[in-house]
Amino acid sequence: MPGPTHSSPALPDEPGRADGAEARDGAVGTTGPVVGTGRTGASELIADALAAVHERFRDLDEGDVATYIPELATADRSLFGVALAGVTGSVYTAGDADVPFTIQSLSKPFVFALALMDRGLAEVLEHVGAEPSGEGFSSIRLDPVTGRPPNPMVNAGAIVTTSLVRGASEEERFARILAVLEAFAGRPLDVDGRVYVSESETGDRNRAIAYLMHSTGALTTDVEATLDTYFRQCSVLVTTRDLAVMSATLANGGVNPVTGEQVVDEVVTEWVLAVMATSGMYDYAGEWLLRAGMPAKSGVSGGLVSVGVGQFGLGLFSPPLDARGNSVRSVAAAHEISRQFHLHLMHRPDRDVPTLYQSTRADRLRQLAHRTPAQLRRLRDLGSAISVRAVQGTVEFAAAETILRSVDELPSPLPSGERWLILDLRRTARVVTLGAQLLRGLVVRLQGQGVHVVVVDPFERRLLAGVDQEFTSFEAAQRWCEDRLLDAARAA
Ligand code: GLU
Repeated sequence: MPGPTHSSPALPDEPGRADGAEARDGAVGTTGPVVGTGRTGASELIADALAAVHERFRDLDEGDVATYIPELATADRSLFGVALAGVTGSVYTAGDADVPFTIQSLSKPFVFALALMDRGLAEVLEHVGAEPSGEGFSSIRLDPVTGRPPNPMVNAGAIVTTSLVRGASEEERFARILAVLEAFAGRPLDVDGRVYVSESETGDRNRAIAYLMHSTGALTTDVEATLDTYFRQCSVLVTTRDLAVMSATLANGGVNPVTGEQVVDEVVTEWVLAVMATSGMYDYAGEWLLRAGMPAKSGVSGGLVSVGVGQFGLGLFSPPLDARGNSVRSVAAAHEISRQFHLHLMHRPDRDVPTLYQSTRADRLRQLAHRTPAQLRRLRDLGSAISVRAVQGTVEFAAAETILRSVDELPSPLPSGERWLILDLRRTARVVTLGAQLLRGLVVRLQGQGVHVVVVDPFERRLLAGVDQEFTSFEAAQRWCEDRLLDAARAA
């Protein structure tokens, strides 16, 4: 039985790194004595977790191998591969992760991404919708008004997306499709000629759909040529390991984490993932989202890609399919991984750290050097006019709300009406757009009330526009505010 493996692109010659042959021999990433190598094999804990899931479902012998494409009917029903590629570029596998099979429907999200890069969202949506169909992959239903297929994840929509890929000739169109699949996988890929011929010879239903769409205007290219490209696209050979890297590229904002190549724009990955989430699992899409809560796509050869957005890509493969055309073992394993790792999209995100780690005022701060006794007295009496809020973590809506509420009331101003607020952003990871908007509003509002807003940021990231002053050290900010306060007190 193949064991779990782990490979890291950063350490290509790492001992125990398993290639495909080793993996099938049962070698695992932890071979050899640990003592004396200095190696802990810590990251193999992830491969071990995958191996446990693989072990749990490998004997789940239900479902049937797809037969409507004769060449697919010959698949070995015992094959089962699981692979996870992190956004770090490390790949972990268990089982038959290096066995090639045809990509089939799993090509759809990636070719959809290419069509979006080529044409933009508006033009693509003129030809194909973005509504879950609630029907099987080969549904013939088109929108009665627009004639568009429901979405790019069913065959009808995928044939249209293939037609939207730019190319001076059909050859060039296919070359560009193959190139993008290779860029997602991070390696050269081949076409399985037998599956291609088999699919082309028995593709009457896809032909019927394509001709119908040509009549409605959804498909504007030559029908037979487009179908030929679509059949070849479906016959590209991939492994479970490839699927994990492809899906990690979607998880990683379009950058292949293994090769570092920006394959598609980040916004395109958002569009693709959204459609995968609502329509990726045929007529199980709704229940899949309900239970697993991840964007995913399955295909008739038994593959499944599933995406932990911002975290990792998952590839699974096992030929027997359930009644809706989804791989039985792959679905079961993906559900389990989602559950174990809390990957449900609707899962409430954890807040790593409390937003405010300090909320204080200058009369309670450590005294600065070189102050005269008279200055120290004044600062003790009036220092409450300088407030401090120290912020940590990422400032999105909820964190911004916490900051706003904490300055709803500030201690009374000096008789001159002046107050100061030091926003200490030394431990702030970043301020996301919505948080920045709210804080920008805060700055303007406070300034209108005579509050001088001062930021501390040693990295000079300019996280907040329009503030009165920015300092790289807290002490410099404190000194500046105190000096202004002392000047104002003296003037009074
Ligand atoms: N090439 C297959 C077809 O068009 C893909 C179907 C699938 O994987 O869902 O019939």
